[in-house]
Amino acid sequence: MERMTFSETAIECLRTGRVLALTGAGVSAESGLATFRGEGGLWEGRDPVELATPEAFRKDPKTVWRFYTERREKAAQASPNAGHQALATLEEALGERFLLVTQNVDGLHERAGSRRIVRLHGSLWRLRCTRCGDEDEDLDLIASHRCSCGGRRRPGVVWFGEPLPAGAFEQAANAATRADVVLVAGTSSLVYPAAGLPEIGRDAGAWTVEINPEPTAISDRVDERIPATSGSALPALIEAAALGAA
Ligand code: NAD
Ligand code: ZN
Repeated sequence: MERMTFSETAIECLRTGRVLALTGAGVSAESGLATFRGEGGLWEGRDPVELATPEAFRKDPKTVWRFYTERREKAAQASPNAGHQALATLEEALGERFLLVTQNVDGLHERAGSRRIVRLHGSLWRLRCTRCGDEDEDLDLIASHRCSCGGRRRPGVVWFGEPLPAGAFEQAANAATRADVVLVAGTSSLVYPAAGLPEIGRDAGAWTVEINPEPTAISDRVDERIPATSGSALPALIEAAALGAA
């Protein structure tokens, strides 16, 4: 395992305090899933940020569904990596002292065993009818894009410009204000309101740690930066805090 140095504050908070972990697409990069803004971020030459919108779905639902079908298939084929597993281990060790807030929709945190999880941006595995509002879970990629009411189903994800699921952000913000440490991993911190969570925590006194190989929009406003991948840094952090086999 790569050698890494963490502050004593971070280690102490992990051992005895409340921990909020906030994750983004980068945490799944080591599972082979593309981020929106990184290398290989384009889909058929198009910007995913432009496809993941209600306007795109209204104008061209077939193309948007093709994009999501492919993302669903790739996510189904991928496996959780050491970063996902470390967060599940952390939850096991900390119990109620821990909450995971994710912007990811791929289900890999859940498959690694995370249960105390707030999904800010929904899930690729939930579908919703745009006519009757009926929701389905479709883990086997078998549901049709048409609902039995004749309406069109859409992916149960939050698109750019849409509100977050009711209560999700409040729950996350509430945990941020009570946290002793906020670990931010694998997010460019450009998408609000999620990107505001570390600042909410910090204003309320939490120590903030950013794990990302690249600097981000909030890098100069965190207390500690770990310029490494989540798949290496999260297991190393758990080992440094002696919190179980990661
Ligand atoms: P983003 O694409 O904007 O940023 C990804 C970040 O991850 C970058 O800062 C990059 O430097 C970092 N990164 C890359 N590899 C990493 C690694 N191995 N370890 C740690 N960090 C790494 O992603 P975002 O901030 O999550 O915002 C994109 C939006 O798109 C989110 O709202 C999310 O819902 C959605 N999205 C989800 C997935 C998924 O579920 N896997 C994939 C793509 C996009
Ligand atoms: Zn319907």
